[in-house]
Amino acid sequence: MKEKIGFIGLGNMGLPMAKNLIKAGYNLQVYNRRAVKAEELDQTKIIVCQTPAEAAANVQFVISMLSEDAVLEEAVLGENGLIKSIKKDAVHISMSTVSPETSIRLDELHRQNSSHYLTAPVFGRPEAAAAQKLFVCVSGKTSVKEASKPILEAMSQGIFDFGEEAGKANVVKIAGNFMIMASMEMMAEAFTLGEKNGIDPQQMADFFGSTLFNAPIYQNYGKLIAEKSYEQVGFKAKLGYKDARLAMALSQKSEMPMPLAAAVHNRLLTAVAKGWGDCDWAEGFGRGVTDDAGI
Ligand code: NAD
Repeated sequence: MKEKIGFIGLGNMGLPMAKNLIKAGYNLQVYNRRAVKAEELDQTKIIVCQTPAEAAANVQFVISMLSEDAVLEEAVLGENGLIKSIKKDAVHISMSTVSPETSIRLDELHRQNSSHYLTAPVFGRPEAAAAQKLFVCVSGKTSVKEASKPILEAMSQGIFDFGEEAGKANVVKIAGNFMIMASMEMMAEAFTLGEKNGIDPQQMADFFGSTLFNAPIYQNYGKLIAEKSYEQVGFKAKLGYKDARLAMALSQKSEMPMPLAAAVHNRLLTAVAKGWGDCDWAEGFGRGVTDDAGI
C-alpha cells in the first residue's frame, strides 16, 4: 500500500481525481465543504476531515482542487487553513486554475513555513479526469516536481514542466483556456452561420473536426456546440468566466492587448448575467451565439 495523502476539494474535477489516486493505491484524508461528496469514494480508503488543516496534517503531500483564488487562499490561510498543520518539508500540490500572483504569494508563504508549493493546473474535463487522461502543467522546485511525479502520474496522461517559478504554469493554463474559449466562440459563430443558411451544424462539425480542425478541442466541443448538447455540466460557465477574468487581468498586467480575450470575457459575462452561470461553459458560447442570432 502507498502512503496516505491529503486531498482538498471534491468537485467535478476533484472527485474523479481522488478516485484515481485511490485506484493507484493511495489512502486519502479528504476535505470538502460539503462532506457528503466524500460518500462517493471507497470508504475503506479514506478519512473524512472537518477542515483543510486536518486534511494536510501528518502527510507528505496535500492536493488542492478548488474553484478559484479566494477559495484556495482561504483553504491555505484561513482560520482552519492547511498552513497551520502542514509538516515541514511537505508539499502542497495546487491544481486549481488560479492567477500567477496567487501561486507566487502562496509559494512564498510555504517557503517561510519550510514547506513547499507546487503549481500544477490541469487540462481536461471531468470525463478526462475519470479516464486518467488529464494533462498537468507544473512549475516549482525541481526536487519537489520529482517527488510529486508518481502522484501526478496517477491522475494524468502527461506532465509538462514550465520551470522553477511558481506562477509560470498558471500563465500556461490561463493562455490555454483562452485558446479553448476563443475556439468555442469561433465554432459557435461558424456553425450558427451554417445553420442560418440551411446547413446542418452537426455535418459541419463532423467535416471540420475530421479534416481542417482535426484536434480534440474542435472535435469534442464542436460536437457539443453543434448538437446543442448541454445537459452534462462538466465545467460551469461561472468558472469559465473566472478564467476569462484571469486572462483579462494577465493581459492588462503584461500590457499584452488581447481583443479576442475581451470578446470571450464579454460572452461569459453575458452568460452569467442571463443566469446561466451553473450551465456548462459550452452552453454559454453555443446558446449565447444562437440567442443573438434569434435561433
Ligand atoms: P466545482 O465547482 O465542481 O468544484 C469546486 C470545489 O471548490 C468544490 O470542492 C467546492 O466544495 C469548493 N468550493 C467552492 N467554493 C467554496 C467555498 N466558498 N468554500 C470552500 N470550498 C469551496 O469546480 P471544478 O470543475 O471541479 O473545478 C475545480 C478547479 O479546476 C477550478 O479552478 C477549475 O477552473 C479547474 N478546472 C476545471 C476543469 C473542468 O472541466 N471542470 C478542467 C480543468 C481545470
